[in-house]
Amino acid sequence: MVTDYKRRDTLMGETQYAIHMDDQTAALKGALLHDIRRSIFVYRVDCGGCNGCEIEIFAAITPIFDAERFGIKVVSSPRHADILLYTGSMTRSMRVPALRAYHAAPDPKVCVAYGACGSSGGIFHDLYCVWGGADQVIPIDAYIPGCPPTPPATIFGFAMALGILSQKLKATHHVEGEDERVQPRHPELPLDLRVDVERESRRMAGYWHGQQIADSFLNLLKAPASDIERNIQNFLAQKDDSRLTEIFGRLSEIYLMRKA
Ligand code: SF4
Repeated sequence: MVTDYKRRDTLMGETQYAIHMDDQTAALKGALLHDIRRSIFVYRVDCGGCNGCEIEIFAAITPIFDAERFGIKVVSSPRHADILLYTGSMTRSMRVPALRAYHAAPDPKVCVAYGACGSSGGIFHDLYCVWGGADQVIPIDAYIPGCPPTPPATIFGFAMALGILSQKLKATHHVEGEDERVQPRHPELPLDLRVDVERESRRMAGYWHGQQIADSFLNLLKAPASDIERNIQNFLAQKDDSRLTEIFGRLSEIYLMRKA
């Protein structure tokens, strides 16, 4: 989904930026406005985490990922909320405030457990003051996994919550079609190899570029075994990028280790 900002200069010499939404984004927003007739409001309840999840939520709603373009807004009172987002593990002292927020939000509402802590207690699961995930106290509709979840995962989770809210509004149940399933990347390669390559590539090059580099590398592995080495060398010669060569070197080590 792409929203881009087109620059235009006015007669007065000022610069203005017009926002253009792609068709998919416009359709999503249209459906949202049609069903709910306003923006969707999210209220965040921190039950006892490390604040890593909060940082990712704010990354998701601020300009780079910009969940507000879909009409998803974070509000400061549960009385306005459509979605309650429970972050952090459920601590003893937060169980009553968490319940109060649940009862304060008007129906129909969707409750989301956010992050490993919100889903299961995470790294704090065995502390004396921790009861586990948010679902120990609140009826949870959706889980957003991760420690912390990335902004794209957060927006994906919001989109799922919107679907659930729409079902609650219309009292319908959605049955997932075959064509709605997310297809795994590079299914012809072994899962362990895919996971290790992607993880290492993201560690070395960051979330977005790491994914692109891992995809390029895994695509080259689909050639017949005798051509792989030569294809990798040709690819690197074309790109002429010492950083990419270093990352590919590390990914090749992983590939050889997994092959052995
Ligand atoms: S899931 Fe991870 S980032 Fe989020 S609160 Fe727990 S420990 Fe922190």
